[in-house]
Amino acid sequence: MKNNIHGDIVVIGAGPGGYAAAFRAADLGKNVILIDRDSELGGVCLNRGCIPSKALLHITKVMDDAASLSRMGVTYDKPKIDINAIRAHKDSIVKQLNTGIAQMAKARKVKTINGLARFISNDQLSVKTNKEDIVVTFDKCIIASGSSSTMIPGVDPDHPSILTSRTALDLVDIPKDLLVIGGGVIGLELGQVYATLGSNVSVVEFLPNLIPGADKDILRPLLRKLKKQFKSIMTSSKVTKVEPHKNGKLDISIESNGKTETKTFDKALVAVGRKPNTDLLNIESTDIKTNNGFLDVDVYQKTNVENIFAIGDICGNPMLAHRATHQGKVAAEVACGHSAAFDVCAIPSVVYTDPEVAWAGLTELEAKEKEISFEKAEFPWAASGRAIAIGANQGKTKLLIDPETKQILGVGIVGPGAGDIISEGMLAMEMGSDAEDVSLTVHPHPTLGETFGMAAEVFEGTITDLYVPKK
Ligand code: FAD
Repeated sequence: MKNNIHGDIVVIGAGPGGYAAAFRAADLGKNVILIDRDSELGGVCLNRGCIPSKALLHITKVMDDAASLSRMGVTYDKPKIDINAIRAHKDSIVKQLNTGIAQMAKARKVKTINGLARFISNDQLSVKTNKEDIVVTFDKCIIASGSSSTMIPGVDPDHPSILTSRTALDLVDIPKDLLVIGGGVIGLELGQVYATLGSNVSVVEFLPNLIPGADKDILRPLLRKLKKQFKSIMTSSKVTKVEPHKNGKLDISIESNGKTETKTFDKALVAVGRKPNTDLLNIESTDIKTNNGFLDVDVYQKTNVENIFAIGDICGNPMLAHRATHQGKVAAEVACGHSAAFDVCAIPSVVYTDPEVAWAGLTELEAKEKEISFEKAEFPWAASGRAIAIGANQGKTKLLIDPETKQILGVGIVGPGAGDIISEGMLAMEMGSDAEDVSLTVHPHPTLGETFGMAAEVFEGTITDLYVPKK
């Protein structure tokens, strides 16, 4: 039949999980079809997530750094903001990377289809493109269809004053008063962008703490900064009503400590979590079992249906691009008959605010909850020459160490570049390094990475850059 095509491996979704899976399978010699409903490859991460948010955070960090130079004797005028130019810059970065992925797909002879894929059975999909409906049959399918923002009930997601992370990144304007609903990673990153660009930002978070997964101590320097940058931070509080005015403004009722107050905002950014894109797949026509919309998988990334795999956000938390990519490679290798498994010791989390916060492996919160014993070693950046030179003395590097084996169980870092330094912690944990291995590794001086080695020296009792009284 004319509109029938077959792939050894068909991948649904061209985000960081899907394109990694497709490219790996093609490199292993398979005939691969990669389907995405978006016209550009790269998924949420590239088109409306990691990359555009980091492009904007870079701009606002430089603005902040430039302003802080006044303490060091250099004063600039107040910056002039051309929002159209900022948007164009961000879009050009995304475009450059879109083109790169498309070129890599072409070079690997991966067939890409722009359309919405829906299952017909355990080995067939229908794909609706702009021009036609195609039936795609497959030996193996990898579902990498990702996630979308959730909305709070009773709020019209299409109201122009209601932003999601996607529309917030479109940077249509800089609202005077912006309420960020949800004090997680996405809400705080985008809140900080808008605050630096000139919005009065307020944050409302249902839970008692912002960024609930991270240890309080490594969040402290960030919270100190956000308290200065944001107009208000309301924790243990919830939005009970959002009422749009005719003039576009929003009356938002917020319940805190049993009292409800209504305040007016120009816009609200809803960043309360993400839901799996399962509803788009017509999954009911397969034998795949779902779990609150998410797809459960084993270590080989297989669903309960032998020839169908799932990777990335559609499999649940942590919803992170690097996890999706690694799972994508495992799924592709297993689907191609190779032996592979997603068997990592940790997945790093990073909040790309200023200062950055990063953690991986065991946290003190988790250790307490699960009654896991650990020893802690910390190196305060106030003792790092490099950190002091760049005004980052509030930073900290913390190691959680197994009291018996002395292996590194967890790492927490706050300060500029924390998201890069955590990679050393990842390597140490994956290699089963103990504190001595890390302390004997020569780190270049003066660097922020050095604080990782010094935290291990604190544990070993060999530190000379600090005076730690003997216990
Ligand atoms: P996705 O990237 O969600 O891609 C799925 C693709 O599948 C999409 O293109 C979608 O349109 C398509 N699709 C869905 N259903 C169908 C269908 N039926 N047919 C065809 N196509 C379909 N993570 C990090 O690690 N670091 C960060 O700094 C970071 N920042 C973020 C910032 C924001 C604002 C947001 C929203 C997310 C951020 N994330 C970050 C999370 C990260 O973007 C996701 O974890 C990652 O994109 C998940 O990858 P994925 O491959 O599972 O799916």
